[in-house]
Amino acid sequence: MANINNRMMELGKVRSVIRETFEYGNKRAKEIGRENVYDFSLGNPSVPTPEIVDKEMVNLINDNTVAVHGYTSAQGAEPTRIAIAQDINRRFSAGVTKDDIYMTCGAAASLTISISALCNKGDEIIAIAPFFPEYRVFVESAGAKLVVVPADTENFQINFKELSRLITPKTKGIIINTPNNPTGVVFSENTINRLCDILREKSKEFGNPVYLITDEPYRELVYDTDAKVPYLINCYDHTLVCYSYSKSLSLPGDRIGYIVVSNKMPEHEDIYAAVCGAGRALGFVCAPSIMQRAILPALGKTSDLSVYKKNRDLLYESLTKMGYTCVHPDGAFYLFVKSPVPDASEFCLKAREYDILLVPSDSFGCTGYVRIAYCVTTEMIQRSLPAFEKLAESYGL
Ligand code: PLP
Repeated sequence: MANINNRMMELGKVRSVIRETFEYGNKRAKEIGRENVYDFSLGNPSVPTPEIVDKEMVNLINDNTVAVHGYTSAQGAEPTRIAIAQDINRRFSAGVTKDDIYMTCGAAASLTISISALCNKGDEIIAIAPFFPEYRVFVESAGAKLVVVPADTENFQINFKELSRLITPKTKGIIINTPNNPTGVVFSENTINRLCDILREKSKEFGNPVYLITDEPYRELVYDTDAKVPYLINCYDHTLVCYSYSKSLSLPGDRIGYIVVSNKMPEHEDIYAAVCGAGRALGFVCAPSIMQRAILPALGKTSDLSVYKKNRDLLYESLTKMGYTCVHPDGAFYLFVKSPVPDASEFCLKAREYDILLVPSDSFGCTGYVRIAYCVTTEMIQRSLPAFEKLAESYGL
């Protein structure tokens, strides 16, 4: 075996269950035809990028291809950071400035940089189950420890009793993700207020701030008017926003997002410097230059997200009618369905017999559920319903 970093080698060799399921789907599609495989494994947006972004990319190339492909400042081009700060303030009145913003290659980079900027070896970062599995990779790679708050399986808000118990002097921060992958749940205003109160209390008790890292690729993907997603900088001073355009503008392959370090925290200058330092140390400087420019005309806009709501309604109503149990998702593009047997992987294997591809919840830090990513065509969902029906019948639902 090569005498290299074994942890990195392991990470590279072990495929995530989501990827493994997706690859299985491709193999199966070759055998029986793509239209006969109901692949709900991947969170890849299925609606086009707003035309204005595509047009802007063409214009940019035609205008000055050399400049467009050149480096920007390490933390991102100044005009881009100014425009994003204005857009945030227009929507949320959050008092953000260009000097709070660091442009990144999407939420994954935003998270990795933020965690590395905050953590020393042995620090702890809290995640609320169920959570995006890559959090563990990001946290452990920063030399920190991921501490998991068990899921509130009643309504997938936050299990506050456990959270209060798990915040200790070692806690450097907590990651939240609302609207949530994998449940689709939006944290209620009450949940957010209670969370911020606890973080303030604990920060005071331990004499060090507990930072709130808010992972927001799904911020705009909310389908019910009463589900509000407050801007966390307005709720808690020690907040780092990890944003991405991957889902709101359907740009996951173009890798563009940003971090906002709240300027309401007294140590803002140091934390922003640490973010720049972590970006440098990790090689995440100068996010894709063309994308830093191409998103500008689309600030404050989104792709046409109406198909996701249509899909959510169709799947939620159909599956619950068939006897499946599922928390009502207000946002993102996921449904979190209770497995009829305790072992969700067993249920996923059974579903494969009907060519329905689902992801078991275990890697999200919560057993006994499956995730359905409904960022697919409505027509595919319609075609899949008889297979879901047969699957339900096989369990006597
Ligand atoms: N966080 C969550 C909760 C996600 O679901 C994803 C991607 O699916 C990411 C972060 C990473 O997003 P990006 O593509 O912007 O890196």
